[in-house]
Amino acid sequence: ETVFVNGELMDRKEAKVDIEDRGYQFGDGIYEVVRVYGGKTFTMKEHMERFYQSAEKIKLHIPHEMDELTGLINRLIEANSIHDGIVYLQATRGVASRQHHFPASDVKGSVVAYTKEVPVPQSQMDQGVTVKLIEDVRWLRCDIKSLNLLGNLLAKEEAASEGHFEAILHRGDLVTEGSSSNAFMVKDGVVRTHPATNLILNGITRRVIRDVAGSEGIPFQEDAFTLDELLSADEVFIASTTSEVMPVVKIGERLVGEGHPGAVTRKLQGAFRKRIEQEAPV
Ligand code: PLP
Repeated sequence: ETVFVNGELMDRKEAKVDIEDRGYQFGDGIYEVVRVYGGKTFTMKEHMERFYQSAEKIKLHIPHEMDELTGLINRLIEANSIHDGIVYLQATRGVASRQHHFPASDVKGSVVAYTKEVPVPQSQMDQGVTVKLIEDVRWLRCDIKSLNLLGNLLAKEEAASEGHFEAILHRGDLVTEGSSSNAFMVKDGVVRTHPATNLILNGITRRVIRDVAGSEGIPFQEDAFTLDELLSADEVFIASTTSEVMPVVKIGERLVGEGHPGAVTRKLQGAFRKRIEQEAPV
């Protein structure tokens, strides 16, 4: 297995992390997960742009130009002959003696990437999944794709330990997003999701869904909804790079609609698939 570490492709066995890497000690860094379908990346440009934007938001300099990094990632996918999978890309503020404030400007950020085969979760996408509602206790910069994921991990663990696929988070009465996905509801044919504020990650999948909803003539509103609205929705789904458009058929013990994936969700799944085959920018 070939991995990418600080500008070089190397065997995974040769890759090392310093015990004073700030990503390891503080979670002082950012990441991306890019989907690979049939050996080709999907929405690579959008992911790379978000990667550099997350870096800028935490004042982290990426020591590679975007085009160079994109090229290296494509080489990595080829070297590992990835068919359907993901690329994990991460940057940290580098290695320095442990103190909270940033290291001197000559300390270069660490950038690593690796690939993995990941199948499309077809049976879950066909049948739908269940979720648990959990209070969103994360910080107020969820727009940054930060390595600090403890709030997300604790929510996912609580949901998963009770047999659920995902945790849907809410701040007080308003639904924000999933622990590793965006959350959507459908009422009277209208799709709604939380606006892209500091309270959610503006998912690339979310943007593709907004785009395909537009071409399919499905009304799409970026307008936060309440727990009551969620619980009385006709359809609910979540979305992410690895989950695509994932129908939610149960929230806790309560059925969504009739307890089957709904018509609008099905239409979006179909349109999303078509988009993968076309790979058009959003
Ligand atoms: N929200 C959170 C908290 C996430 O971690 C993710 C992705 O893992 C998403 C939303 C969905 O983003 P994307 O569609 O870009 O994968």
